Amino acid sequence: MSEKKKKAIEVEKAIRINTANIKAATVNATMCEVNAKTYENNMIELDRLHKIKMNNIQLQIDRYIDNLKEMHKVLDDLLAEKEALHLELKEVFHYGEIICEFCGKYFTSQGISRHRQACSSKPVNKAIVEHEAEITEVSVDIDARKAALLAEIKRLEKVKPKRT
Ligand SMILES: [Zn+2]
Repeated sequence: MSEKKKKAIEVEKAIRINTANIKAATVNATMCEVNAKTYENNMIELDRLHKIKMNNIQLQIDRYIDNLKEMHKVLDDLLAEKEALHLELKEVFHYGEIICEFCGKYFTSQGISRHRQACSSKPVNKAIVEHEAEITEVSVDIDARKAALLAEIKRLEKVKPKRT
């Protein structure tokens, strides 16, 4: 075989290898592109689902904040009703009697004037003090509950995600 022929065979072989390598690299590049596109689509879809879910969660938070406010209104009304019923109960039990404005006790119409005179002359009336303490206790409870409600609403509104 001549030197020229040998060289030609070598070059032709190199060309065949080069062509095969180009084909393989082209296939690899295409697969990389397809994979990248697939992951991109996955990301877009996850982002879309995430937004839907976050919106739903926010709607739920809004709904429960409204319910919470409503429940506390209901509780306020029920507590007011309880107080009114308590007064009614006292009136029913002491029907026909007269209440002493100093000690809050009930007396017959015959007994009240004598008692009132004695009761009003006491420098400190224990029953009035006790009753006032009771009223204060109830209103402190209501104030504490309202403060807790406001704090909870503030916290929930901080927690809830921004609407997207
Ligand atoms: Zn009295």
